[in-house]
Amino acid sequence: MPQPTLPPAKLLINNRWVESESGATFATTNPATGEEICMVAEAGAADVDKAVQAAREAFDGMRWRRMPASEKGRLLLKLADLIEKHADELAQLEALDNGKPVAVAKAVDVAAAASCFRYFGGWADKVQGKTIPIDGNFFCYTRHEPVGVVGQIIPWNFPVMMLAWKLAPALATGNTVVLKPAEQTPLSALRIGELILEAGFPKGVVNILPGFGPTAGAAIASHMDVNKVAFTGSTEVGRIIMAAAANSNLKRVTLELGGKSANVVFADCDLDDAVNGAHNGLFFNQGQSCIAGSRVFVEEKIYAEFVEKSAAKARGRVVGDPFDPKTEQGPQVDQVQLDRIMGYVERGRNDGARLVCGGERLPGPGYFMQPTVFADVQDEMAIAREEIFGPVMSIIPFRSVHEVVERANSSIYGLAAAVWTRDIKKAHTVAHGLQAGTVFVNCYNVLDTRAPFGGFKQSGIGRELGEYGLQQYTEVKTVTVRL
Ligand code: ADP
Ligand code: MG
Repeated sequence: MPQPTLPPAKLLINNRWVESESGATFATTNPATGEEICMVAEAGAADVDKAVQAAREAFDGMRWRRMPASEKGRLLLKLADLIEKHADELAQLEALDNGKPVAVAKAVDVAAAASCFRYFGGWADKVQGKTIPIDGNFFCYTRHEPVGVVGQIIPWNFPVMMLAWKLAPALATGNTVVLKPAEQTPLSALRIGELILEAGFPKGVVNILPGFGPTAGAAIASHMDVNKVAFTGSTEVGRIIMAAAANSNLKRVTLELGGKSANVVFADCDLDDAVNGAHNGLFFNQGQSCIAGSRVFVEEKIYAEFVEKSAAKARGRVVGDPFDPKTEQGPQVDQVQLDRIMGYVERGRNDGARLVCGGERLPGPGYFMQPTVFADVQDEMAIAREEIFGPVMSIIPFRSVHEVVERANSSIYGLAAAVWTRDIKKAHTVAHGLQAGTVFVNCYNVLDTRAPFGGFKQSGIGRELGEYGLQQYTEVKTVTVRL
């Protein structure tokens, strides 16, 4: 197994690698073996204070504020190039820390991160206000100004990609950042920290604080000098973060939260296409994806055949060492997640769903489990309502367009959805009816830096990526001049 060089296992504050104030450290582990990779400095509230102060000085000071937008853009483009230059090594770090197959990490996560920095680098000098013809003899215009110091808290499922989705639009619009990677997967963020220094970002513009949620994360969300918090993670923690923002300084909040995405398969689809799409839509990234198509609604006429083909495909999925190029599914990220998922498998069985394949954890070491398919799942079962975040597919029969849209929408979540049909009218009708931030038609998991992403309902607030994503990182200022 290739051993990537490990990045500094410290905090990045004001362009310096430092230990935490308390001296505390924590272990990050390799999910494929359960073994410790290294100890990492653990940020606490005092370190958050220091980082916020550095970010504040960078924001207020001249180095970042006065840097031409085009220069900021060049720094982002340079970072994109550096990420591509070090793509193999970043993918290896990601595989080591998260357990995802290294080939997938390179083709998806690292490629998407580079694309995101490049795309937003291009935007840096194209963020424009308007001139507005108000009544009277006045000249009125708007400025899109940065929000200020932004706190960003990201999850462990796509560590380097989530970092890019957060950092790139914030920096392109002139903010400064304090970012906390997830405690399960701090390594790729620390390596990006090194690349940020190499690219030449001024000190204090990006600060990276590995640490835990209830300590470092909470300190960011409740900090009186943080102007905005951007979070990706569970709906449960999103609620805590929004409350912390409300109870501190009313900082701006954007949230990208959980999902229970409906994948609706009509009898007039291309069946093999839909089976493959549903498989990738659920099993991609070990099922640890917020847009996982975890409620597969299949029209009765093709239900039996769809279940059979899906089970065959799941049985054939190659589970194993993330560093083996043949591996399609690595381990789950940790014991906690594996136990949660197995708890849902148990509930599915007890609730009377039909286990078609999988359902067992694999012998250790490492947190591996079998790709699992349940059929005859009913809407009110826990496995059809709650986010499992693992390789567990639920296949649910339906009869009509009207009925399936209503049932698909009967969820607290609304992140993504998909529809499979050859009927163009049905495709758009269903796409318009589904309450979800993204609807895929005859495809799944097609995300792109240029297209907005985010949730309806309890799946989130605000949008990331694309031009829409920029709006979440600026304050609009109206300037009115009497002539
Ligand atoms: P998951 O359940 O998938 O691990 P979480 O929502 O718990 O997702 O975690 C996502 C991110 O939120 C991580 O960086 C985690 O450390 C952080 N986090 C967890 N709890 C809190 C909290 N109370 N306040 C702020 N951040 C938190
Ligand atoms: Mg780890």
